[in-house]
Amino acid sequence: MSNRTFTMVKPDATGKGYTGAIIDQIIKGGFSIKAMKWTKLTKEQAGEFYAVHKERGFYAELVEFMSSGPIVAAILEKDNAVADFRKLIGATNPANAEEGTIRKNFAASIGENAVHGSDSDENAAIEGNFFFSFLERF
Ligand code: ATP
Ligand code: MG
Repeated sequence: MSNRTFTMVKPDATGKGYTGAIIDQIIKGGFSIKAMKWTKLTKEQAGEFYAVHKERGFYAELVEFMSSGPIVAAILEKDNAVADFRKLIGATNPANAEEGTIRKNFAASIGENAVHGSDSDENAAIEGNFFFSFLERF
């Protein structure tokens, strides 16, 4: 069990002005920020980041959406980070997300669901390395 996970505030949420409120909920949830940047993915970068979903019907829509506006990428630290962060963000589909979770509070649909959270320690490390050099984290 590692103590780090990776997140993005997705383009729907940055576009609606929810970035500050989402980061506030993450910090109040007990996570500390080890790296953070405001950036925008190209289609190629979004496609590479979500390559694991290449065969899924929603892949083209996902790549289009994730490159449609700015995102905030961050590496977060907390005991049991991956599992606890998935709990804080709630189910992929906000309609099924528990009350008080970030997706329940800020997401509009299963596609445009406000935040990303790594699904394993291994992917948290891969995803953090995708965005941040070792000079950009501590
Ligand atoms: P994420 O990886 O972004 O944290 P997740 O792990 O909850 O989300 P995944 O199954 O990994 O869910 O799907 C990745 C992303 O693809 C979802 O967050 C969502 O933006 C999009 N997605 C998933 N299922 C659908 C769907 N049925 N229709 C449209 N988009 C979808
Ligand atoms: Mg996922």
